[in-house]
Amino acid sequence: MDQVILGKTKIKVNKNGFGALPIQRIEKKDAVYLLQKAFYNGMNYFDTARWYTDSEEKLGAAFSWIREKIIISTKTGAQTADVFWQELETSLTNLKTDYIDIYQFHNPSFCPKPGDESGLYDAMLEAKKQGKIRFIGITNHRQTVARKAIDSGLYDTLQFPFCYLASEEDLQIVNDAKANDMGFIAMKALSGGLITDSQAAYAYLRQFDHVAPIWGIQRENELDEFLSYQENPPMLTDAMEAKIAGDRKELAGNFCRGCGYCMPCPQGIEINNCARMSLLLRRSPSASLLSAEGQAKMKKIEDCIHCDQCKEKCPYGLDTPELLRKNYEDYKTFL
Ligand code: SF4
Ligand code: SF4
Repeated sequence: MDQVILGKTKIKVNKNGFGALPIQRIEKKDAVYLLQKAFYNGMNYFDTARWYTDSEEKLGAAFSWIREKIIISTKTGAQTADVFWQELETSLTNLKTDYIDIYQFHNPSFCPKPGDESGLYDAMLEAKKQGKIRFIGITNHRQTVARKAIDSGLYDTLQFPFCYLASEEDLQIVNDAKANDMGFIAMKALSGGLITDSQAAYAYLRQFDHVAPIWGIQRENELDEFLSYQENPPMLTDAMEAKIAGDRKELAGNFCRGCGYCMPCPQGIEINNCARMSLLLRRSPSASLLSAEGQAKMKKIEDCIHCDQCKEKCPYGLDTPELLRKNYEDYKTFL
């Protein structure tokens, strides 16, 4: 079974981390079953967030009795120290624990530092002093903030999107995190569903011994797929290399990752799916995308008032309204 040491934390986790965002969408009993099955089959690292509605509660229900046997990271999107403390207490209650292994700032637009006016990093230090958290982490989709977090030396871990579609700049961040002894937690290892070959995704990431991917898991067959890689880790084959090269060519450049940070849209447009519809149509089952409901969602693009809120919030610098327009044109042709 592949293992990863998370940098200076010295925490050792299974290479298969469990991303607990998707378990929001399933019933509690089903989530508890999935989480416990993951644990009994060797997974020991679970990542969640205060923003993932009841995900923390489900983790608490599954693991409170074996707390010390697993590693939990969660996240706070707090913008002020007061909210930070409220969220930390809520997370501890939900997770039925008195400590969090890695507490992360959730995609902040800046890199919190001691003494800055937000007071967030000072609150982190105080929480660590009180024993409520063990290590301080940060998650981000922006290269600029990730780079500042690495250079600051203030963070034990960095959670950043990393998959085989990574750019040279992304790779530099991955390598610099290692050079600075930071744990590297890879989110979006399937690029929000655009990578459909999980074996190739796993095999690619396996080349980086310091990278701990967290796979978003909602269904038992998805869990089984990743569990099978523990016994038989996929190796990069020529066929996989060819597939990766093809995907890089097709998906290179400015594609929507489906992260949803540009939302909500005042016109109710489901941007995180509509802005990558052309790719979804060609890379995943299309029946629901083309259903009456799917068509209604795409038609809402006609209501765009070009307020540019989404464009300003997109961490990838995408021209989101233009992307929506192009995807809608293509969708109508596809229909
Ligand atoms: S530009 Fe259009 S899609 Fe973007 S937030 Fe404004 S209304 Fe919504
Ligand atoms: S447009 Fe940007 S922010 Fe919005 S879902 Fe896509 S990648 Fe994320």
